[in-house]
Amino acid sequence: MKKIIIISAILFLAAFGLFSALKKNNSLNNFPSAPAANTGNSPQNSSGNVSVSQPQNALSDQNLNSFQPSLDRASERITKKPFGIFVSPQNSPVQPERFRGWHTGTDFEIFPDELDSDISVRAICSGKIAVKRFASGYSGVLVQSCELDNQPITAIYGHLKLASISKNAGDNLSAGETIGLLGKANSAETDGERKHLHLGVHKGSATNILGYAQSQTELSNWIDPCSIASVCN
Ligand SMILES: [Zn+2]
Repeated sequence: MKKIIIISAILFLAAFGLFSALKKNNSLNNFPSAPAANTGNSPQNSSGNVSVSQPQNALSDQNLNSFQPSLDRASERITKKPFGIFVSPQNSPVQPERFRGWHTGTDFEIFPDELDSDISVRAICSGKIAVKRFASGYSGVLVQSCELDNQPITAIYGHLKLASISKNAGDNLSAGETIGLLGKANSAETDGERKHLHLGVHKGSATNILGYAQSQTELSNWIDPCSIASVCN
């Protein structure tokens, strides 16, 4: 009886070890956003996105993992504070400036004809809302938990009109889904800032909404949103 138990235990451990090795190998080899059905001869473009000839279920899997821009013409809006720029009250492209440090996100500006219109901000990724609150420096800020290359990240959306966000912490947002509206320029809805979106992407699952890092080491905990495919299209 004792022998059987020992043999069973050895077999179980061997099977578990094999399973773990296979799982590890699989996660290393698979492109993170590629659906499992896409490992054959299906066409992919250079960024790993599935072409439109994929079956419908593969496309919807892909959409769950892919990122989207928050605003239309996103790349044209990055005219003042890109990711990583060092600003101080003396040198900032935005005057007057009250902040100092390395910009942890990317600022997306409005076009002149958008000053008095409602500008919807969309989720860049799919995931749950971790935080929705007022914060000094932003007014409305929303933090969303997502994954990038199978690693947890948080997306930080700053200067939103808090009252326009119908969903709450714990609710899911899909990539491309409207979160709410940009706060009104130079008002309590932006904590006195110009009308724009501050978008940050922080490594890990912990919430950090700081808009400026005080060292390069601190900045290394942040990801340039424009380094993620589609976010700054
Ligand atoms: Zn910013």
